[in-house]
Amino acid sequence: MIKFYNTLHNKKEEFYEREKGLVKMYTCGPTVYNFAHIGNFRTYVFEDLLRRYLKYKGYKVIQVMNITDVEDKTIREAKKAGLSLEAYTKKYEKFFFEDLDILGIERAEYYPRATEHIDQMVVIIKKLREQGFTYESEGSIYFDISKFEKYGKLSNIEINETKSGLRYDTDEYEKEDVRDFVLWKAKKGDEPSWNTELGVGRPGWHIECSAMSMHYLGESFDIHTGGVDNMFPHHENEIAQSECCTGKKFVNFWLHSAHLTLKEGKMSKSIGNILNVRQILEKGFSKEALRYFLLSAHYKSPLAYSEEALEAAEKAVTHVNYFRDFIDDFKVGSENKKIAAHIQEGKKGFEDNFDDDLNSAGALGVLFIFIRNINKELSNSSMNAQNKTEILNFLQSVNRVLGVLRENKKDLLDKDIEELIHKREEARKNKDFSLSDTIRNDLLSKGIELEDRKDGTRWIRKK
Ligand code: AMP
Ligand code: ZN
Repeated sequence: MIKFYNTLHNKKEEFYEREKGLVKMYTCGPTVYNFAHIGNFRTYVFEDLLRRYLKYKGYKVIQVMNITDVEDKTIREAKKAGLSLEAYTKKYEKFFFEDLDILGIERAEYYPRATEHIDQMVVIIKKLREQGFTYESEGSIYFDISKFEKYGKLSNIEINETKSGLRYDTDEYEKEDVRDFVLWKAKKGDEPSWNTELGVGRPGWHIECSAMSMHYLGESFDIHTGGVDNMFPHHENEIAQSECCTGKKFVNFWLHSAHLTLKEGKMSKSIGNILNVRQILEKGFSKEALRYFLLSAHYKSPLAYSEEALEAAEKAVTHVNYFRDFIDDFKVGSENKKIAAHIQEGKKGFEDNFDDDLNSAGALGVLFIFIRNINKELSNSSMNAQNKTEILNFLQSVNRVLGVLRENKKDLLDKDIEELIHKREEARKNKDFSLSDTIRNDLLSKGIELEDRKDGTRWIRKK
């Protein structure tokens, strides 16, 4: 049984899905006006853990992550750079996907761009207008929060009577300022705009996520996530406009991750205290260490960035990888009856922790105890081939969720060998026999023997 802390009810609740065996989830994605910073990636790694663990438990997952390519900041920065909105945002979108791959974040099923879903947004705004939830001012359309009784339930805010009727045109604002929000903004100056039934203009940020989530997942779905800063006003507004449009409950489980912090507070582009994935790699840390660091604390606990913390993560990742290699290289002997029990205990501990609101910190603790126990066992006794396979399988299954094991050194070697053989073939074609011989001898010194046959070069490992 999995439990998640559901922000909607401020407590841990047993997870249930709407359609048996299928989880539909929406994860608020990047605003592509700059490199995503590692604070953003803390949230994306948490969402990746959530996705991977649901799959580990046998669910099929349909995940949507939007790409916010039109809102105040993308428009402002594109203009500054003298580029079209599309050219500017596509550049950062590309970096975003590269960073996802660096961090081993599994791809979601859909990455819709806001600019490609304007029609769906217009339909929702029209429905809201027909039902009397909106009002207009100078060509812009606003959502009247006093019309939605449940407004503020997610983030536990009170609607202050004196503020009703006040409204916000900007996409983001503070919790103290509870106001009506903009659904459709009338065209201003040379801003990008769309000519629609609502007039010429562009959508507000909040309507984008309602439109894209419901388009791909339906009017009601299972899980919606984001960083804690998304709770108000963004998610509060998403609930208001979606539920008023459909008359149905929008989402059953809302999960919010805590921030990655620096000494100056939350890591954020507006404060300017940001570090991106590439900057961390340039400091010499491995991508696995960065991923490990980001998932090393429970997602609801704040996580403080420091180089010392990354160094500790690097050590931990190396420890797990050394252990895998040690087991891989272990010369097997007789059966070790205790190993199966350690695996069982490790598996239970790992699942108990993840079932309990994705307690990744607890699960890592279990993994290290498991490693210690097996190391102890093997320091004065042996194990057979089956024991070895079972340990490696357990590590692989844990890694399907954690994603912190490096490529197996043997796999890496295989790839390297193929590459060198290819290089040697090229050298022979170019009649560069000295290079070809050097490659053959190098490989031989590493225990790899080549055999040239009519159908190509074969290789065997001699040790
Ligand atoms: P943005 O690109 O600003 O819309 O943010 C993308 C995601 O990153 C959202 O889910 C935010 O809540 C989340 N986020 C932003 N800053 C941080 C931070 N310092 N730590 C963790 N998550 C963050
Ligand atoms: Zn969103």
